[in-house]
Amino acid sequence: MSQRQHRGIGMTSARTRDRLIERLRTEGIINQAVLERIRTTPRHLFVDEALASRAYEDTALPIGFGQTISQPYIVAVMTEALIRDLPPGEKLGKVLEIGTGCGYQTAVLAPFVEHIYSLERIRPLFQRAKERLRTLDINNVTLRYADGRHGWQSQAPFDGIVVTAAPHEIPQGLLSQLEDGGRLLIPVGHRGEQGLVCVTRDGDDFQRRALGLVSFVPLVEGIER
Ligand code: SAH
Repeated sequence: MSQRQHRGIGMTSARTRDRLIERLRTEGIINQAVLERIRTTPRHLFVDEALASRAYEDTALPIGFGQTISQPYIVAVMTEALIRDLPPGEKLGKVLEIGTGCGYQTAVLAPFVEHIYSLERIRPLFQRAKERLRTLDINNVTLRYADGRHGWQSQAPFDGIVVTAAPHEIPQGLLSQLEDGGRLLIPVGHRGEQGLVCVTRDGDDFQRRALGLVSFVPLVEGIER
């Protein structure tokens, strides 16, 4: 590719990124740091080259193996909810992510967290995400190829848990891995009728808040070989 073509793509992305951020604002995202992070995260590097021109549309896109990269709006909503109440400049301690996929949500979240532990059940996605995050110099992340339905007991408790695939019910084991005051963001329900739920732990009490309808791939049992 010539230098000119390179620059051309860069300019298009700058414009289309601005348009995406404007759209997220219109849709109600107000956290400036989250918007800025989404603007500067190169989403086109998380999808196939053939889809790169659509990377800054506010839509989910296929990443192979029947899975998708999440819609930027949903990534923004989850990130915003997770770091709500965090004083500016401070970071959450440990966050568990279930469903690494291409690693986009991981990358968006990375600067707001001391360390992210992320689980993925499809090996090629896990491997690619690992390489991609390393290339992008995102180093506060530990990825693991495993079934995430039971969380990551040896690293618990977590200040936040983000699940990016939908179970029919909230797995109880995940609640027990939440730190007191910590938050779990999880899509729950069957295809076509999923709701995004935010659970905040207050001692033995778990407060649930509904954050609207969403459409995630299902949380699947076991690992894929
Ligand atoms: N977080 C991604 C979205 C990934 S789609 C993004 O930022 O775009 C959801 C991912 O969850 C898929 O890659 C799927 O393989 C994974 N997944 C589904 N069930 C899982 C499970 N039990 N454990 C770990 N990962 C799972």
